[in-house]
Amino acid sequence: MTDIALHAALVGQPGSRDQLNTPVLVVDRAALTANIETMAAFAASRGLKLRPHAKTHKSADIARLQIAAGAAGLCCAKIGEAEALAAEGITSGLLITSPVVSAPAVARLIALNLATEGLKVVVDHPDNVAALGAAAAKTGKPLEVLIDLDPGIHRTGVASPDAAVALLQAIQAQPSLSYQGLQCYCGVQQHIEAFDLRKTALEDRGAYIREVIDALTAAGGAPAIVSGSGTGSHRIDAELAIFTELQVGSYVFMDDQYLACDLAGDGAQASPYQRSLFIDARVVSANSQGMVTVDAGFKAMSTDAQPPQVVAGAPEGSRYFFMGDEHGALVPSSGSPPPLGARVTLAAPHCDPTVNLYDAYHVVEGDTLAAIWPVTARGRSR
Ligand code: PLP
Ligand code: MN
Repeated sequence: MTDIALHAALVGQPGSRDQLNTPVLVVDRAALTANIETMAAFAASRGLKLRPHAKTHKSADIARLQIAAGAAGLCCAKIGEAEALAAEGITSGLLITSPVVSAPAVARLIALNLATEGLKVVVDHPDNVAALGAAAAKTGKPLEVLIDLDPGIHRTGVASPDAAVALLQAIQAQPSLSYQGLQCYCGVQQHIEAFDLRKTALEDRGAYIREVIDALTAAGGAPAIVSGSGTGSHRIDAELAIFTELQVGSYVFMDDQYLACDLAGDGAQASPYQRSLFIDARVVSANSQGMVTVDAGFKAMSTDAQPPQVVAGAPEGSRYFFMGDEHGALVPSSGSPPPLGARVTLAAPHCDPTVNLYDAYHVVEGDTLAAIWPVTARGRSR
C-alpha cells in the first residue's frame, strides 16, 4: 500500500497533518487561495490578462483555481508540461515559453495544437520557424507563435530589434504559422531585492522592449500580445504599460528570494503574497547533544538557494543544516530540540525545483489534511 493511499484515508480528520509520513510537500490552502485572488485582482485592476506560469506548480488543480479566478490560460516551460495539463482538461490558452526544437518535440507540439485551442509557442530562430511551419502545414491548422526576446541574459530569445524583424519576416513567410506577438521575461531583474534598484533595471529593459515593439510595428508586425513579467516585477511592469499579459509564476507559493523583495515598493509593509509551500519533516534520530536529525535532505528540497527556514515544530531561532541526501540537522539556538517522532515544518527554499521532487501536494487547512493533489506535470521537462 502506498502512503498516498494511507494519507487519503486521513483527509478531513482534525489534526491529521501530524500523522502524515514524511518528508511531505505541504501547501496551505488559505495562503494559496489568497495569493491567487490577490494576483487576479491586481491584473484585473490594471486591465492586464493573466497567464500564470505552470512551471512553478505543475498542477492541474492549481491551474484550475487560477482559471476560475480569471486567468486567460497557462504558461508552460516545455511541451511535456503542456501535454500533462491538456490531459487533465486544461486545453485552452496554453503558451509554451521556451523554444521547441527537437523533431520528436515538434511532432508532439503539432499534435497538441490539434487537440487544444489557441496553443502558442515561442520561437527565436529562423530554422525553428521553418521547421514549425513545415510541420504545421501538414495539418491544416495554423500554429500560433510569439517571438521570444532575449532581455540580455543570453538564455533564449532574439538578440536585437533587427533580429526580431528578421524573425517576423520568416514567420510571415510561413502560411501555416500565425504571428501573435512578443514574449520577454526579465529573469535576472526579478530578484533585485530593493524596489528602487529593481524598478530602474526594469525601466531600462522596458525601454529596450519598447524599441523592439516599435521595430516590429514599423515592419508591419505590431504585436497583439506582449507577454512577460514575473512575481518580482509585475507591479513595476504594470506601471510601465508594456505587457498585455503577465506570466507570473512563483506568487502562488512565494519563497525566500521573493519574500526578501520589497514587491510593492512600500518598504516596511508585508509582502502582498504569503508563503504557502512547506516541507513537513520528522525527527528520526535524537542521540546527540543540542541537535536532532530530521528525514529531509537534498532529495526533499531544492539546494540552489539558502537552507530552509524552520517555521514550526522547534524552538524559535532553530536552524536547519543539510546532512546529505536523506537527512538534515536541526539545531536550536536555545531550549531543547524536539523529541523523536516530532513533526518539523520547513519553508520550501526555491519553490519550482522543490515541487518537482514530489508526486503530490498535501493540502492543509491549519493542521488538518484537506486534500491530496497530484503534481500533474512532475518530471515533464521535455
Ligand atoms: N516566464 C518565464 C519565461 C519564466 O522562466 C518564469 C520563471 O522562471 C516565469 C515566467 C515566472 O516567473 P516568476 O516565478 O518570477 O513569477
Ligand atoms: Mn524559480
